[in-house]
Amino acid sequence: MSYLRVFEIYDAIQGESTLAGMPCTLIRLAGCPLRCSYCDTPEAIPAQSGQVMDIDDITQQVRRARRPLVLVTGGEPLAQRGVFELLRSLSHQPAIIQLETSGAYDIRPVPPPVRRILDIKTPGSGECSRNRWSNMQALREGDELKFVLTDRADYEWTMDCLKRHAIDLDAIPVLLSPCWGLLDPRDLAQWILDDHLNVRLQLQMHKYVWGAEARRV
Ligand code: SF4
Repeated sequence: MSYLRVFEIYDAIQGESTLAGMPCTLIRLAGCPLRCSYCDTPEAIPAQSGQVMDIDDITQQVRRARRPLVLVTGGEPLAQRGVFELLRSLSHQPAIIQLETSGAYDIRPVPPPVRRILDIKTPGSGECSRNRWSNMQALREGDELKFVLTDRADYEWTMDCLKRHAIDLDAIPVLLSPCWGLLDPRDLAQWILDDHLNVRLQLQMHKYVWGAEARRV
């Protein structure tokens, strides 16, 4: 039997990514070595938070929920080696499987058909140095890049990053997300339009539906 430290599992509406709006089962793994300035789940950062769960039990809970989408997130889900066994197990479910990671770890061992969302850390996060840039060469169909922007400087840094890594915006969806309370979504929308960018403005849907402070949504 294999185990993982799980902070929480619950059914929700996926609030981000190109699949925003889909009912999903969210598995939040415990532990993260990063300390982003805007982290909205700091309670999941300690490696000893949450509870230890058998991977078979997690998979069965997901199967019982019968949602069309499963999101594995954190914390930083790739910080626990057992996550790969969980992802292989989930891949046999009749659902789309997404993994959201900070991109601080090697994403190559993540098995297809798992769709990987890399939450690239901008300077405003305070954790920019943790980006593992070799991951940019490992992107495949179904993956997405997410950037949380705190200000105009983060936006310009992101544009430079996309150019530097020659990201094909027709092949890999790029999601630009204004940091809640720091960047006005209208400013970001205007910058995207002014620059004729083929990217998506991403708002955290769950915050508009349930409020910014709501948990487990
Ligand atoms: S990577 Fe995610 S969980 Fe970790 S500190 Fe940053 S926002 Fe929080």
